[in-house]
Amino acid sequence: MAKKFIADVAVAGRRVFLRNDFNVPLNAGGEITDDTRIQAALPTFRHLLDNGARIVCSSHLGRPKGEVVPDCSLAPVAKRLGGLLGERVLFCAETVGARAEKAKAKLKPGQILMLENLRFHPGETRNDPAFAAELAKGIDLYVDDAFGACHRAHASIDEITRHVPLAVAGFLLRKEIDFLTLAAENPPDHYLVILGGAKVSDKLPLLRHLVTQADAILIGGAMAYTFLKAEGMEVGASRVENECLELCRDIRRQAEERGVRFLLPRDHIAACQIEPNITVRIIRTGEGIPGEMMGLDIGPETVEAFQAEIGRARLIFWNGPMGVFEVDTFSGGTMEIAAALAASPATTIVGGGDSLAAVNRAGVADRISHLSTGGGASLEFLAGDKLPGIEALTEA
Ligand code: ADP
Ligand code: MG
Repeated sequence: MAKKFIADVAVAGRRVFLRNDFNVPLNAGGEITDDTRIQAALPTFRHLLDNGARIVCSSHLGRPKGEVVPDCSLAPVAKRLGGLLGERVLFCAETVGARAEKAKAKLKPGQILMLENLRFHPGETRNDPAFAAELAKGIDLYVDDAFGACHRAHASIDEITRHVPLAVAGFLLRKEIDFLTLAAENPPDHYLVILGGAKVSDKLPLLRHLVTQADAILIGGAMAYTFLKAEGMEVGASRVENECLELCRDIRRQAEERGVRFLLPRDHIAACQIEPNITVRIIRTGEGIPGEMMGLDIGPETVEAFQAEIGRARLIFWNGPMGVFEVDTFSGGTMEIAAALAASPATTIVGGGDSLAAVNRAGVADRISHLSTGGGASLEFLAGDKLPGIEALTEA
């Protein structure tokens, strides 16, 4: 993946378009509830500031669907970014057009201008050349630091690169590429993958690829119940995707043929409702989960078996919580796995919005080698797909 990198090009005095992923969660009052994505973007801003670039940045936020939706404004992001950098961040309430052009033209070296939400324009998701050309007007250098959006061929990610002299990766994007390439292209022996979370259908393409790469695959979360039902287990009212049963059998067959250890939960924390103080039962896979109950976390024997696998791994990729970790009663398995990763000397990579939240909740974020900021993008990358946003960058 030899793409040009920001540290290898001159930026002094240049007018840079910096594409960020500032798609941060906001509460009902419009306040940012988690600024991890803004924090992760700071190294590239600092580099550009230290080297006297004129910085024009923007992002998508929420799902405004091509219209101006005031609740999706980037204005609070500009304020938070300014606070974190200790610098003034100018904000333009337009993304393209006369006012945006004027603000871009006035920008001095060492100044930052944030343009309004890219998705207020229908041209963004349509990869529209006219919209991309407007974004690129007056720009000397394009810097992509929005890994979380790189799997989308959108105007500010893909088409814009055809309207600028040079398109390079920022520090955050480069770090993502480096860590994920390690897992995707030449994993060491003892490569362990742990998958969980809500839907198996989201992750089947990734699993198909991983059975050719990993030494061991551990499955938890709701997705385990589709696999277990496919093997004939009674799963009660657990979350199952019936249309995926055959594909699950197929993946297990492939794992077996290739000698990949494929572990499903041996026991379960089951309950009739997802509520904090509900009575739970520990049920072994062989017993089956009775009709009205749901499997909502992995049980203690499973935790032990998974810990043993984590203990012998040299590279670990984890996506998807092991249970309904948002509720304390069902968070134990996920917290144990997070702690085991943190204690492991292996290179550890965690991806996915809920998985990062789980690692934070476990208080071990600083002991994970790499926290991938891109949910869908990291899964596509590890599935061996080419990401349009990375492909579009200038060759080194
Ligand atoms: P990520 O965002 O890390 O990719 P997902 O979005 O795939 O993860 O899955 C996270 C969700 O899966 C969480 O909201 C969690 O409550 C849910 N989940 C995990 N295990 C179960 C389960 N056994 N039953 C129902 N939901 C589950
Ligand atoms: Mg999620």
